[in-house]
Amino acid sequence: MSETCQDCGSPYEEVYRVPDEVWRQISPKASEGDGLGGLLCLHCAEVRAWQKGITLYWEAAIGNFPSIVAVEDYIRLMLSGRR
Ligand SMILES: [Zn+2]
Repeated sequence: MSETCQDCGSPYEEVYRVPDEVWRQISPKASEGDGLGGLLCLHCAEVRAWQKGITLYWEAAIGNFPSIVAVEDYIRLMLSGRR
């Protein structure tokens, strides 16, 4: 079952996780509610992040979200200011 990207209108199948503090900066629904709504395909998420000076990287897994280790590493990287 696919979702529809709210930027480009394309359907996408990928399930991915973005840290909340990053999603609030790139979400198409950032100004609504808690800022955590919205749907973006991977390409549009990367484009929006790039426009904010954020480089995203992805870890693949089958039938599961990426490991918490990768997410923690990413947060640490973002907080350190290194990109
Ligand atoms: Zn898109």
